[in-house]
Amino acid sequence: MSELGGAELDLTDPLADKRALFALPPGVVYLDGNSLGALPHRAREAVQRMVEEEWGHGLIRSWNSAGWIDIAQRIGSKLEVLLGAEPQSIIACDSTSINLYKALHTACALRPDRKIILTDIDNFPSDLYIIDSVAKELGLQVRAVAKQNVAAAINREVAVVELTQVDYRSATVYDMNEITALAHYSGALMLWDLAHSAGAIPVDLTAADADFAIGCGYKYLNGGPGAPAYVYVSPRFAKSIQHPLHGWFGHARPFEFERNYESASGVTSMLVGTPSVLSMTALSAALDVFDDVSLNDLQTKSLRLSSFFFDLAEKHLVPRGFEVISERGQRRGSHVAMTHPGGYAIIRTLIERNVIGDFRRPDILRFGFAPLYNSFMDVETLVAQCIEIVDSKIYLSPEFATEARVI
Ligand SMILES: *Cc1c(COP(=O)(O)O)cnc(C)c1O
Repeated sequence: MSELGGAELDLTDPLADKRALFALPPGVVYLDGNSLGALPHRAREAVQRMVEEEWGHGLIRSWNSAGWIDIAQRIGSKLEVLLGAEPQSIIACDSTSINLYKALHTACALRPDRKIILTDIDNFPSDLYIIDSVAKELGLQVRAVAKQNVAAAINREVAVVELTQVDYRSATVYDMNEITALAHYSGALMLWDLAHSAGAIPVDLTAADADFAIGCGYKYLNGGPGAPAYVYVSPRFAKSIQHPLHGWFGHARPFEFERNYESASGVTSMLVGTPSVLSMTALSAALDVFDDVSLNDLQTKSLRLSSFFFDLAEKHLVPRGFEVISERGQRRGSHVAMTHPGGYAIIRTLIERNVIGDFRRPDILRFGFAPLYNSFMDVETLVAQCIEIVDSKIYLSPEFATEARVI
C-alpha cells in the first residue's frame, strides 16, 4: 500500500484500464492533459497508416478513397455524441480562436440592433482578444465583468454572451443551462467555449439550448499539438450563417469553381480552406478512445481525483505555504490550481523530477487530472514531491529560477 492511500484508491477505479490506451513515458507523472492531452496509441497508429498508405500510396486519390474530403464532418459526428449535439451541428476546423471569430461574427450579425458583447473578465486571453477585434470591426462594445456579475449584466442591449464554461485558472464551472436561459430571456445569443470541458465533464448542448459553441482538440480530447478545433452551430441557424471568411470549402459547391461565393448550408459553411488531414487523422482516432466511456464515469473519476488532491493538500501542502485557489465541490472542471510564493521554481523542480504540471502568472501552479489516464497514485506522487521539494528547499537553487519559453 502507498503511504498516502493512492494505490488503494486505484484499485477501486472503474476507468483504470483506460490508461493502457495511452503512450505515457515510464516514470513520468503527466498532469498537463488540460494543456496538451497524452498520445493515444491509436492516434499514432492512425497517423502512421495515413502517412504510409493514404498519402504515400493513395496520393490524391485518397481524397475520395480514404474519405479525406469529409473528415471534418466525421470528426464533427463523433463530437456531437460527446457534447450532446444534434446531427450535423459540429464540424472540425481551424483553431479555437479562429472558430470564435467566425462564430461570434455570425452571432452578432443575427442581433444587428444590439450593441454589446458580454463576457467574463477572467476569460482566456485569446477569447478576450478575439472579442475585442470582432467588436472593433462591427462597431460594438465589449462588457467584461467578474464571474459573479455575469448573470446580472445580461440585458436587452446584449447581442451575444461569450463565456468559457470551465475557467482555465480556477476550474470554476458555469451552469450552461441557467446562463443560456438568461441570455435567451433577454433576447441575446449564447456562445460557449468548451476548451476545458470537452472530454472532462459531461456537456449537453441540446439540453442547454446553446446557440453556438467552440472548443479545441488538443486538451482533454487528446488530438495532438495544434489539433484542429471545432465549432457548433445550432440547427436553428443552419440557413442564416454569415461570417466574413469566405473560402472555397465553405461554398455550396466547391468543386464547381464558381466565380461568386454561395454559402454551404449548416455548419459546413464554417469551413474556410482545405482541412489539415494529418492532424485531423490524429484527432479522429483519439476521439475513438471515448467510444465505450460513460461521461458520468469520467466526471466521477475527475471529481474523486480532485477531492483526493484537496484532502492531501489541506493536510500536507497548506502548512507548507501553498494556497489552494480552485474551488472544491461537485461542479468543477478537471484541473486544480494552487499558489506558492516560489511557484515558478517549484514547477520547474517538479518538471525536472518528471512530475509535469504548468504555471500561470503570477504564481499559479496548475495540474490537470485527465480522468482517462491519470491515477490516484499520480496525485499522491505530486503531493509527495511537493512536500519533499519544499522541505528540502531544493527549489531555491538558481537553476530553477531561469525562465523557459513555454511552461
Ligand atoms: C486552450 C484555449 C484556447 C486555445 O485557442 P487556440 O486558438 O486553439 O490556440 C482558446 N480558449 C480557451 C478558453 C482555451 O482554454
